Amino acid sequence: MFRKNRLFTPGPTPLLPAAQFAMAAADMHHRTPEFKALYSKVLAQLKQFVGTQNDVLLLASSGTGAMEASVSNFTSPGDRVLVLSAGKFGERWASLTKTFGLRPDVVSAPYGETFDQAAIRAALHDDTRAVYVQATETSTGVRHDIQAIAALLRQANSNALLIVDGITGLGSTHFDIDSWGVDVMIGGSQKAVMIPPGLSYLSISERAWAAAETAKNPRFYFDLRKERKNAKAGESAYTPAVSLIAALGAALDFIASQAGGDLAAGRTLLVDNAQTCATMTRTALTAMGFTLFAPTAPAAAVTAVATPDGIDSSAVVKELKSHYGATIANGQGEMKGKIFRIAHLGYFDPLDTIALVAALEHIAKDTLQLPVEFGQGLVPAQSIYAAAMKV
Ligand SMILES: *Cc1c(COP(=O)(O)O)cnc(C)c1O
Repeated sequence: MFRKNRLFTPGPTPLLPAAQFAMAAADMHHRTPEFKALYSKVLAQLKQFVGTQNDVLLLASSGTGAMEASVSNFTSPGDRVLVLSAGKFGERWASLTKTFGLRPDVVSAPYGETFDQAAIRAALHDDTRAVYVQATETSTGVRHDIQAIAALLRQANSNALLIVDGITGLGSTHFDIDSWGVDVMIGGSQKAVMIPPGLSYLSISERAWAAAETAKNPRFYFDLRKERKNAKAGESAYTPAVSLIAALGAALDFIASQAGGDLAAGRTLLVDNAQTCATMTRTALTAMGFTLFAPTAPAAAVTAVATPDGIDSSAVVKELKSHYGATIANGQGEMKGKIFRIAHLGYFDPLDTIALVAALEHIAKDTLQLPVEFGQGLVPAQSIYAAAMKV
């Protein structure tokens, strides 16, 4: 039997062929008019993709690099900050802020859940300098309500910067960054924008720039002020990841092309697409008797599914790989063996979802020996897609 390798992981996600070709063709020096034109174009497109009037900067790093920059550039040692943590990536904010000498107050929610707004309100103090949160917690498949958190900060007349890890939120969630008042929104290349790992990007509000002027934490490679100055001239401070930037340009062109050349409208379609695929997946797996790990606030970026007691989720991961060449994600840390995760953000479509649901039925029925019949998940998934087509 022939099998194609297919990624269903929430980063890296499947690559867009047009972006791969653009990478292969990107044979240019970075201090040339050719590159400047490419870089300026991609930075302008990124603003539209993120959906903001704020500056958007690109960094040659994985997503964590932009998370680190969002700590080092806007804070000073001893600053009080609020970390909202409900999974592995929330925990990363907590360790990052401690690494830079901050004093984080932590509001946590159990894995699989989102925060209690009253708990956030109670943990917000007059001297809280920044709030760090994920838009979607990829390790648990939860979506946090950024709009509500932003509104809460306003109601409390807080001066805290709102710093959002949108690494899997961008392209899977609708945001209105400027009107909600999100100061920093972070993205990563290996998620919704369909290209390999290696780039991070972030939008930065004027309020955050003001904080960067007085912040005393050390920064060198990730000095955002230096990047901003260079970006205005179509350059990056250090050698940029030229081929990835070419790939990103091609991917953003593709997203725009899905909506007649309008990138903002293309992003809306990308988000709606992820949401449709996520709804199909959740409905199918529930109909097959699985339990969703994050039923109350599910993300469209990724669906986390609990395996029944006595069944190690690693078996699902392993069998999908050996029977179908498909890679899904296991749980991270202590969730390993208990959940499996299926991505919807980026270069996926409903047909990918239908195929994966069919494969999961097969694994559930024959390998896990669960009481699942063929069609049990597929029919509800097909119905959701058919209904979505009619509106
Ligand atoms: C993937 C991801 C990151 C970044 O991880 P890197 O490995 O540094 O790219 C951060 N936050 C979330 C929510 C993610 O999904």
